Amino acid sequence: MTHVVTSACVQCKYQDCVHVCPVEAFKEAKDYLVIDPDECIDCAACIPECPKEAIYADSDLPDEEMDWLEKNERESPELPIAEGNSPVLADS
Ligand code: SF4
Repeated sequence: MTHVVTSACVQCKYQDCVHVCPVEAFKEAKDYLVIDPDECIDCAACIPECPKEAIYADSDLPDEEMDWLEKNERESPELPIAEGNSPVLADS
């Protein structure tokens, strides 16, 4: 099991999730975050922190967001660890 960032994060990046994650599971792309399934410990702390409701447990992932499960897994190894201090795109 893992948790998954979905399409609502695109052009948003509030990053509240990053600050509550007890491990360094969030990775940062240019205009969204993803969760590394090899790092996520399924604590669920990040879910209520997202103002866009972009984060789901993989078992709760809506059908229309299923492609983000693979996207999080595929992109995580190549992206830097999110520090949580990038500009919030939703406010720009
Ligand atoms: Fe981090 Fe927990 Fe969210 Fe996984 S479920 S990304 S460990 S805060």
